Amino acid sequence: MTIQDFSSADVVEKQSKTENGNGNQMVMKGIPSSPGIIIGKAFVIKQESLIVPDEKIPSDQINDELNRFDNAQSDLVQQFLLSLNRVKSETGNIAAIMETNLLILSDPVITDSIKNTIKKGFSAESAVVQEFEKQRNYFKNTKDEILRERAVELDHIKQMLISVLKNQCINYSVAKNSIVVAHSLTTTDIVNFKEAGVIAFITEIGSIASHASILARSFDIPAVIGVKNACEAIHDSNDLIVDGFAGIVINRPRKVFIERYTKKISEIEEHKRRLGALVKMPAETIDGKKIQILTNVNFLDDVRTGVLNGADGVGLVRSENLIMELKKIPEEDTQYNWYKEISDRAYPTPVSIRVFDIGSDKYSEGLPFNEENPALGFRGIRFLLSRKDIFETQLRAILRASVNKNIKILLPMISSLHEVEYTIELLDICKKKLDEEGIPYDTNIPIGVMIETPAAALIADGLSEAVNFFSIGTNDLTQYTLAADRTNELVSDIFDSFHPAVLRLIKLTIEAANQKNIPVGVCGELAGHAASTDLLLGLGISELSVAPSIILELKNRIRNSSYQKTKQLADDILHCSSYKGVRERLDLALKDLTIIEEKDN
Ligand code: PEP
Ligand code: MG
Repeated sequence: MTIQDFSSADVVEKQSKTENGNGNQMVMKGIPSSPGIIIGKAFVIKQESLIVPDEKIPSDQINDELNRFDNAQSDLVQQFLLSLNRVKSETGNIAAIMETNLLILSDPVITDSIKNTIKKGFSAESAVVQEFEKQRNYFKNTKDEILRERAVELDHIKQMLISVLKNQCINYSVAKNSIVVAHSLTTTDIVNFKEAGVIAFITEIGSIASHASILARSFDIPAVIGVKNACEAIHDSNDLIVDGFAGIVINRPRKVFIERYTKKISEIEEHKRRLGALVKMPAETIDGKKIQILTNVNFLDDVRTGVLNGADGVGLVRSENLIMELKKIPEEDTQYNWYKEISDRAYPTPVSIRVFDIGSDKYSEGLPFNEENPALGFRGIRFLLSRKDIFETQLRAILRASVNKNIKILLPMISSLHEVEYTIELLDICKKKLDEEGIPYDTNIPIGVMIETPAAALIADGLSEAVNFFSIGTNDLTQYTLAADRTNELVSDIFDSFHPAVLRLIKLTIEAANQKNIPVGVCGELAGHAASTDLLLGLGISELSVAPSIILELKNRIRNSSYQKTKQLADDILHCSSYKGVRERLDLALKDLTIIEEKDN
């Protein structure tokens, strides 16, 4: 039995049709995004209810509220300045309007008035609404036509301020052991709610490959996403069952369901205990092929959990999470301490530190850019090479931390060889400076690239000449190959890492690595997928890096595989030209995206 066998979808289907309850139980179907079963009480976040023109706040929150307003105002000023710089050279009159907007936004009279309203005990949103209404009425009633037009601009600025405030105003102080129900959640929300002791997440939208889902899995917090109308149907303090294996949420469950799921929870605990026996055993197929199982690290704690579960090292440190935790780009010493701590905890096993992969659906708050299409924009290595100050600081910190000689450097979002060459030049400059300062580091520190754009896979032969290892990021490789945003649930049926195009790019990468005799692993979510193990082994992968919580499950699967058989399977699958064909051969259910919302009355 595997953890996936604990899915209770069938049980719910049968039960909810045959039981006659008091008519208010509701079974809602979504997408399983982080495994596990939880029974608890709901905490519903309703964003639209946040703006009340006369919303009062307690007096001890006034300072926080003033800070929230200051932050929102400066974020918006930053955004305006950026847009202004972009349009300035081309369109003079648009620039003039934007300059006026900027003046209104930072007008000291308006700012003071808003702050005074907050000091009287109103929320920041309501103070903004009150002040802008007042200004608007003044402009609207004037005889000057130009000033009357200003009233429209005021509305626009008010809306922008409110939406920036809205994004910041999720209240993270929820009761411990709550289940958060929200329209959507960002990675920052997941981190803050985890710290507040939240035990499960339900969202109305989202996708399993988004970084928010990855974090939920990394924290081992069950989550179901894509649950339509969850914020409407579920009320605060409702009893809930969240089944993160089957993607099912039961709102106000009847007693019989609570009993059944309580039993399932004990079975899962028992299963986990049994898997514990595998910690010290090798990840080896029945015919003797050894596989390295590494762990993905989002936060320091993951190293401990990974080591406890018997990981052979750290395959991916998502260093950008340090920025998210600290809410700023950390100083060299802070970074050094973090990298050194990871290296020490994992020693003697290897640790691949990926340099900041900023942008897209990851940390971008406070950074001076606002892109229409961030996944295709200024992300990862592109950002770093444009900010050599930030990049050099990070490379120095990694080098200084490399004295145990178990650290490797991994580059994200590579699409061209020159990005690797520029990085190596910068790394050499950093090494030279450290030599001059007499600071020790690993002079042979290996450097590798993430293969996560089709371009990187297609030039893997050239890249293999320049680097020491490859790590295939199947999340982004899928997103960019299939042109399907990994965070957009509208295209989640198109986002499929089992698509033949993705598999062929993986194969191409492995062939290039083998040709040059450099190691190649997979660190995207596909590495831990229950149906992918045999396929990836058969394609020639011998390193899999996964969330710490699924290491033992993966080891269990490897220990039950025959390498010879996996090679035949991979060969067969590489001949499929449709993802349907691939899924049939893997005996994998075709995606059923219909959301079943069943009212049980
Ligand atoms: C990937 O893209 O598969 C990957 C491992 O990187 P991330 O999920 O952090 O983008
Ligand atoms: Mg990636």
